[in-house]
Amino acid sequence: MRDDASNHDNGRRPALDLVEFLKRADREVGWLFKLIGRTGEATERRRLLDKIVWKLILRRFLKILLEQAGPRCERCLAHQARITLMEAGAMLADLGKVLAVSIQHGACAGCKEITRTFALMNTHSGDTRDAAS
Ligand SMILES: [Zn+2]
Repeated sequence: MRDDASNHDNGRRPALDLVEFLKRADREVGWLFKLIGRTGEATERRRLLDKIVWKLILRRFLKILLEQAGPRCERCLAHQARITLMEAGAMLADLGKVLAVSIQHGACAGCKEITRTFALMNTHSGDTRDAAS
């Protein structure tokens, strides 16, 4: 099987505008706060607040993903972000929809366990050239 590991960069960044993603998240949080101000209903307020909390955790989670050296497993990420394993899974799924998250099977850079690991794909990868042709 041939997988498309060759990092062909035709002008498009794989990790699509991270800055834009964060800006958008901030805008959404601001907008949600406005909605809360307008909503009189307690359950709706609660729902909106939950959404805000989720977005803020997602932001922190993304920061952790960005700052980590090497791929991490779900458990390490959850631990770092102080969220449950289930929440971490949901966040990774959420992020995977908008950003290029690489999922691999290998050693976690944190706990060294061989498992499913996650990392944000950065623009300057592919430094390991296969010179043996
Ligand atoms: Zn780990």
